[in-house]
Amino acid sequence: MPFSTLGLSQPILNAVSELGYTAPTPIQAEAIPLALKGKDLIAAAQTGSGKTAAFVLPILELLSRAQTQRKKRARALILTPTRELAIQITQNIEAFSRYLPLKAFAIYGGVDYAPQEEALLNGLDIVVATPGRLRDLYTRRAIHFDEIEIFVLDEADRMLDMGFIEDITKIIDTLPGSRLNLLFSATLSRQVRELAKETVSEAIHLSFHHDESGKPNIDQCLITVDKDKKSALLSHLIQEKAWPQALIFIETKHGAGKLVAQLAKRGIEAECIHSGRKQAIRENILADFKSGKIKYLISTGVSARGIDIDVLPLVINYDLPFPADEYVHRIGRTGRAGAFGEAISLVSRDDFKNLCMIERRLDRLIPRKVIEGFEPVKEVPISILNFVPKKKAH
Ligand code: AMP
Repeated sequence: MPFSTLGLSQPILNAVSELGYTAPTPIQAEAIPLALKGKDLIAAAQTGSGKTAAFVLPILELLSRAQTQRKKRARALILTPTRELAIQITQNIEAFSRYLPLKAFAIYGGVDYAPQEEALLNGLDIVVATPGRLRDLYTRRAIHFDEIEIFVLDEADRMLDMGFIEDITKIIDTLPGSRLNLLFSATLSRQVRELAKETVSEAIHLSFHHDESGKPNIDQCLITVDKDKKSALLSHLIQEKAWPQALIFIETKHGAGKLVAQLAKRGIEAECIHSGRKQAIRENILADFKSGKIKYLISTGVSARGIDIDVLPLVINYDLPFPADEYVHRIGRTGRAGAFGEAISLVSRDDFKNLCMIERRLDRLIPRKVIEGFEPVKEVPISILNFVPKKKAH
């Protein structure tokens, strides 16, 4: 099915085609025509499914039919969990709306208020925001919501995980009653469904649960190694394999900085992003990683959310995350849009508990490797997939 059958006008179709999209993804094919008809949607869809265009394209189409508006107002509001995601969605909007006179702006915390207040003063069509800063700006009377026609909750489950529930409900309470609502979430947990009930009473439910863990184009493997040998092993692999780029996940901020230093000692240049680094620095690093200037990026889980690089060949888990779904999201950074991807996890004995959870979540064992010279002294046991804790005798 071509994009031209979805009900989008020529300026949008031209931009889409220039971006190299030939056909809509399943979520785009379903969601775009429904949103254009003004139907509220609740969609279970993950990053990588093409969900951003699924809500951005109908927004552009609907907004392009009329002109903006008063100062400090916007007509569409997209709430998203992280600054990186807010910036990325705004960049997508700019690309898709290159032939339309629509203005979008990203609002997020950790930076000065002044530029954001100034942008709002001039009037915007689309505001893409993280909940906390948006509420601050609302309290400062820098934005009014009375002209919001379209409201998007993106990555609703992550926003709830990150503790934004109060900000979100307060924002929803101040929106006009008559509006189009689009809610996207990787998982439709009980909390997300409750939030959805408050936001949209009669929405159409769509589910595009392509499980990244089962993607045949992502080659997953574990390398067992002792904890204190991980950085040496990583350097060895980088030098031997000469990977063009890799995103390396690590659990702690401190660990991220330390790993950069350890790699540097072995002559490998890497950068790290985590919540302890200044926003401007994180943005520059992300841009350099996307452009290929930085080859190895070390990131904690939250900072990596929303990193969207078209062809990311390799994800490395320096340690294994908890919960298991986080592993699935991480490996989903690679193997996008049908490309081949590789996910390697460095696993030591103290990752065993998380490994069990992950392998139970996948319902299979991930193939293991041992690298010569890095054989673990502390063996990593094999997970028991059907492990059921014994009931206590009364
Ligand atoms: P998303 O799920 O919105 O984060 O999108 C994931 C990736 O797929 C992004 O890099 C998009 O540029 C890309 N993408 C989205 N829709 C399409 C499409 N119809 N054809 C090709 N690539 C797409």
